[in-house]
Order: sequence, then C-alpha cells, then structure tokens
Amino acid sequence: MLDLIIRNGLVVDGSGLPAYVADVAIADRRIVRVGRITEDAQQTIDAKGQIVAPGFIDPHTHFDAQLLWDGHAKPVLAHGVTTIVPGNCSLSLAPLQEKHRMKLVGMFNQIEEMPHKAFAEGVEWNWVTFDEYIKRIERGLAINVAPLVGHSVLRLWVMDEAAMQRTATPDEVKAMQDLLRGCLDAGAIGLSTSFVDMDENLQPVPSRYADTVELDALAAVLGDYGRMLQIVPEFYDADLTIARVDQLAALSLKYAIPTTFSPLFINRDNIDAVNRVMARVDTQFAAGARVWPQVQTRPIDMSFSLAVPSLLFMRFRAWYRLIRFGTVDEIMAGLQDPERRAVYVAEASALDALWPRIKLRQVNTDANQSLVGKTLGQIAAIRGCTPVDAMIDISIEENLDAHFLSENMGHDDDAEVGRLLSHPRVHIGASDGGAHILSFSTYGDTGYLLGHFVRDKALLGLEQAIKKITSDTASIWGIAERGLLQPGYIADIAIFDSATIDRGAEYFTPDVPGDGSRYVRDAIGMDTVLVGGAVAWSAADGYSASTRGKVLPGARL
Ligand SMILES: [Zn+2]
Repeated sequence: MLDLIIRNGLVVDGSGLPAYVADVAIADRRIVRVGRITEDAQQTIDAKGQIVAPGFIDPHTHFDAQLLWDGHAKPVLAHGVTTIVPGNCSLSLAPLQEKHRMKLVGMFNQIEEMPHKAFAEGVEWNWVTFDEYIKRIERGLAINVAPLVGHSVLRLWVMDEAAMQRTATPDEVKAMQDLLRGCLDAGAIGLSTSFVDMDENLQPVPSRYADTVELDALAAVLGDYGRMLQIVPEFYDADLTIARVDQLAALSLKYAIPTTFSPLFINRDNIDAVNRVMARVDTQFAAGARVWPQVQTRPIDMSFSLAVPSLLFMRFRAWYRLIRFGTVDEIMAGLQDPERRAVYVAEASALDALWPRIKLRQVNTDANQSLVGKTLGQIAAIRGCTPVDAMIDISIEENLDAHFLSENMGHDDDAEVGRLLSHPRVHIGASDGGAHILSFSTYGDTGYLLGHFVRDKALLGLEQAIKKITSDTASIWGIAERGLLQPGYIADIAIFDSATIDRGAEYFTPDVPGDGSRYVRDAIGMDTVLVGGAVAWSAADGYSASTRGKVLPGARL
C-alpha cells in the first residue's frame, strides 16, 4: 500500500517543462509514480487547483544556531523550503574548540545579529567536531540541511589568535586541509569564505587573512570531493568582484569544483557595473568554469526599533553607542535627555532624505494605532514636528516597542531584478535566512519570487522560476535525488496556490531563546509542505511532529 497520494494537482516537476495535471504517489519516502493513480494510500491530499512542485532549496542561510533549538528552521519550512544551506560567509558553528566559543558567538552577533543571550540560554554546547555538530542537529530535524563549513572557523581552530593576525604557515595550511577533509567526510557540502566581513571588534574575520596559497590548498581538498566553494566578494565594487569571479573560475577549472558568490545587487545606479560582472561570468562559464552569482529576489528593506542595534544606525556613532550598549531604560533616558537628544537629531540629519519615507509598522498603545502604516513624513505633518522627532517621540511613547520600516533601499527595480533572476547563469539565493534577525525578515523570498515576479509582473514563467529554486539549485550544489518530481526522487514537495502565493507582511515576534525577538514573515498561499514523503507543515495544522529532515550530502561511509 502507498503511504500518500497527492491527487489532481497541477504538477510543475522542477525540470522546466510545462505543468500537467496528475496524481503523485509516495511510498517509503520516495515518489513512486506520477500519473493517474488508482490504488489507495494511507493518506490522501486533494490538490485540485493547486501547484505540486518539488520543495524549494535555499542555498544561502545562517540557520546554524537556530537549528540547535528549532529543527524546523521556522518559518522557512512553511514557505515551502525543504532544504537549507547554513554555514555561509566563512562562519559555521563547527568544528569549534571550547576556548573559541565566545569568539564565534561574537562574530555571529556582529555579522548575523544573533543575540548573545540566544546562545547563552538556547544552546547546550556539547559538540566540538563537525561530526558532533551534525549528530546534534540531526535530532528532531524536520528540514533537510546541507551545511557548509566556514573558513574562519577552520583558521581559528588551527591558528588560534594568529588566525586574526597573519597568513598561515605551510604546516598550518596542511592542518586546515586535514580539518576540512574531516568535515567533508562528516557530511559538509563545501566550504565558505568571506573577503568583506568584520568581527565583533570591527576587525576583519579570520578568513580575510588567508593568502591565495591557503585558499588554493583548501580548494584542492574540495576538488577531491567535488564540493562547493562559496564566497562573499567585495560586492560593493564591480572591478573587485570581477577579480573574484576570475579567481573562482581559476579554482573551479583547476579542481573541477562548483563555486558561488553572493550577494549581487542591482540598483538603478549600478546597472552597467552588474552587466560587466555578468559578462565576465558568461565568459568564464563559456570557458568551462562554474562561477554562480547568487541574486536575492526581495528588495532591500530594513526594519528597526530603537531598542536593538540596527544596521541603519551603524554609521552614527552616538546612536550606535546608545543602542548597541544601552538597556531599554538607558536608551529611554538618553532619548529624553534634551542635550543628548540634540546630538542624536544632529547625527540623523545625514539621512534627512530617508526619514520622511520611513513607515511606522507596529506599536502597542491604542493611542498610536491610527498612525500605523503612515510615513514619518505624514506623522510629522500631523504632529507639527520633524520626521526624526516623530520617530523619537513615538519610540518614547511606546517604551521603544515601536517598529519602523525603511522600504526599497535598493535592488528594487523590477525589470532589472527580473532580468537578472531569469538569467540562465544566475543562481537565485542569497536570502540570508536566519541572519540579520533584528534588521529584516530573511524569509519568504520564494513566495516573493512566485507572487511578485512570476504572477504579478510576469517577468519569469512559473515552470522556469520553480526550476531555478529546485532542480537547478540541486544540480549546482550536487544535491542528489532532490529537486525533481520524478519516480525515484525523495518526496520533498511544496503544494501551493499560484493565484495567491506570496510572502506575508513582516512582523516582530518573541521566539528567540533568551527573551529575544526577530522579524519574520508568514507564508501566503502555501497549502502543504512534505519532507521525505511526510507532511512537515500544512496551512490547516501548522508544523507536524514529523522529523524526516536529513543532513546532505551526509557522511561518507
Ligand atoms: Zn550570509
């Protein structure tokens, strides 16, 4: 008897071929047949009027920490994502010696805005090796995880403090190679490195002290396994990015490995620069290299309150000091002190073009509810003050629990972003899921792709978009048996309504251990998500108790 049948859905099988009406039969975790199924099954899902697609794969996330307390990687699973790649940007949580734990927490805090308290109260530190970390997250895993190992972490293990001071000696490089080999044997899908990130002391992360000999030696190990090298290039500069494209292409050709870099943003003022980067990508692909640029679907938005440090205030020294180090009471006192407030207002004037456009998104008091959805410019006009004063006053009135949104700060030209997303050599990704939890919501990028770019703007076809986030991603990363709805494949499946699929509005929610909160989005239009042939989430019942997530590619036996 079959385990499950999905009946009458419109199958978009991930290959890019046209959709067709069929049933999908599942037994023993796998798709056994797609067509007219007459047998019975223990469970039947009626998908009439819905799309039945392979589960989506998100290649750029930072769920490393969250997976320790949440095997569903909420809310990304509810958006139809059935496989995530954590460990990007040179940072993973393993391998990690005890003496380096706080250093790594500091880096996660600085780069990914993961609070110290979440680690202190949400994490039992009972792993050292990559293998132990994998065994740890495998307990209660509801989503598939294809983890990268971070270059900064390898350096820290081998070089200690010197990892943040100098290049490695030949012996240290050899030790890093051995360490990487152990991680790949344990199931890591590749290596990540960064050429731009800063640590908690605003010093370069360890990977940035590596020379080309070291990176070449690590790429050689990846070559023995055919696994991925991910990098963060100097993405703010096209010429430096092009130099990294060439560097990756050389490594890709020399060791026959796939490589990917992220992010690549397109703004109205850098279209020519992005075209130049893409021209070099095309040239390198034509030469046989694999250098996949990752492009995110969502525009750059930033949410913030004055209670927690936000990327928006990083550049303002007085603001940053106040918010970064102050408690709620101390921040309130600072904002209410006329002299100090004058300093904050003066600093903020550098962004005077921005403040009037910022929206008030969420408040607690009844008195201010009528202002929600209005811009600071509109509120300032109502109150007879400046937009910055309106932001500060409302924050004080709400005891700092007022949330603002700065929308469309870049990557927001639909035609240009759509052109890039549909490019055959662009890898859709770079969501940063699980990171920047205090600045924006990194969930729902697939809903935005399918709702905004496919349905509303018709800039990509449905079959094309689904192929890009399923079988293309699986092929790029070498993830076997996933990404297609065909007999023999693992039954990771997303069932959704193409007429309504979307990402919900962003909101701030207290679900981080240690009394922490984060910005999230719910899915819209998603009906059911299967992982390994079992329902992992449904709109009707929420997250299930099923724990069929796997670590991919998994340990070498
Ligand atoms: Zn990242």
